[in-house]
Amino acid sequence: MNPAAWDVVIVGGGLAGLSLAVELAQPEHAHLRVLVLEKRTHYQRDRTWSYWSAQPHRYTALERRRWQRWAVSFDGQRRVQTTDVNDSDAHHGSYCTLDADAFYAFAVAQIAAAPHIHLRMACPVRTVVPALLPVVRLEDGRQEAACWVMDARPAAMPTPSAAGTAGSAGLSQHFAGWEVHTATDCFDAGVVELMDFQAASAGLRFFYVLPYSRRSALVESTWISGPTVQPDYAAELRGYLRQRYGLQAYDCVYREQGRLPLQHTPSASANPRIVKLGQAAGTLRASTGFAFLETIADAQRIAGCLRHTPPNQASIPAFRRQRLDAWMDSVLLAAMEAQWTQAPHFFMALFGGTQASTLLPFLAGHATLAQRLSIALPLPKRAFLRAAWQVLRS
Ligand SMILES: Cc1cc2nc3c(=O)[nH]c(=O)nc-3n(C[C@H](O)[C@H](O)[C@H](O)COP(=O)(O)OP(=O)(O)OC[C@H]3O[C@@H](n4cnc5c(N)ncnc54)[C@H](O)[C@@H]3O)c2cc1C
Repeated sequence: MNPAAWDVVIVGGGLAGLSLAVELAQPEHAHLRVLVLEKRTHYQRDRTWSYWSAQPHRYTALERRRWQRWAVSFDGQRRVQTTDVNDSDAHHGSYCTLDADAFYAFAVAQIAAAPHIHLRMACPVRTVVPALLPVVRLEDGRQEAACWVMDARPAAMPTPSAAGTAGSAGLSQHFAGWEVHTATDCFDAGVVELMDFQAASAGLRFFYVLPYSRRSALVESTWISGPTVQPDYAAELRGYLRQRYGLQAYDCVYREQGRLPLQHTPSASANPRIVKLGQAAGTLRASTGFAFLETIADAQRIAGCLRHTPPNQASIPAFRRQRLDAWMDSVLLAAMEAQWTQAPHFFMALFGGTQASTLLPFLAGHATLAQRLSIALPLPKRAFLRAAWQVLRS
């Protein structure tokens, strides 16, 4: 018997919190009492989740578009790759995109249909107390005790003063994107511009274009850098739309902006009954900034731990990334940071020298050892050996 009012309290109803709530809303979890506390007052489109799809998942039907061709470009060179997709496996190898508002609406509807799950909006949490039965204290003074607390509050971003000027403690991927609609045809709707690199010496800089149609696209200006780089994204986007597509006038129907910590190491939880979720748990992949698929997979894993066991007897291990993946990602970041001006060449070599059938499992996070080795082969040996040595010593 669980003496707390709730079996599970989820703190933060974003991607990780809501996807766990959706898993727990399924009939096999109807015996659980679940509360979701979210500080926002309402949901709206605030991000666009894209990912390399390996197989269909719970949210596949919500995807806005899928592509089988993508390009990387730098300094007049362009490499276009195509995945081999056959009809029986229409998902494998696609680059997919899903608007956050579609996800939020779906999750809220699933929760509303499950009487054992309660979603409270406009409920900022002040702290989670790691007592024997963890207690969640809200900003308004109320508190909720739970058998399990799933904490999805994102970790604080390192500030320039905290990280110092070298920035090695705080590389982040930061970006701003506009969805633009144009009066004339100008985008190639069949090819995602994954990385259109621009020369830069203080970080890796590129534009990213998701062409929804010939007249609409999400265009993002992206940097990977230390925290001291503070770009004028609007000027960068205006300049790119003008130079690359000849666009002077367009409707900007949506904007998003983000800063993702690439070198955040989650601290161990103060209590095994407090489980971190999502970005706070480390689901963000350092080499790509992707977190979507790993976050929803982790929600399924956690729900699985609660499926056939009374909540006060369940065991829920923390999220763990494969060590080899984490190491390879650290080496890539160290190699880039040692020579920002060379970093675009690394990606051009990677995309030019590796087949899509090898690259995609790596990007999706489930490459074999042989695939990892063939990914490493086209990369410049000296720079990467030096970076590997540096990571091993740190
Ligand atoms: C603009 C943007 C675009 C991105 N694009 C991609 C992409 O294309 N592909 C990809 O894989 N990843 C992408 N990411 C990275 C990652 O997938 C997202 O950040 C994802 O939303 C992380 O999920 P999360 O649940 O950890 O955090 P969030 O989705 O941010 O959820 C955290 C929730 O906690 C709530 N919260 C915070 N503090 C409190 C509190 N004190 N009390 C109560 N609630 C609180 C917040 O309001 C929020 O709802 C993107 C990120 C951003 C910001």
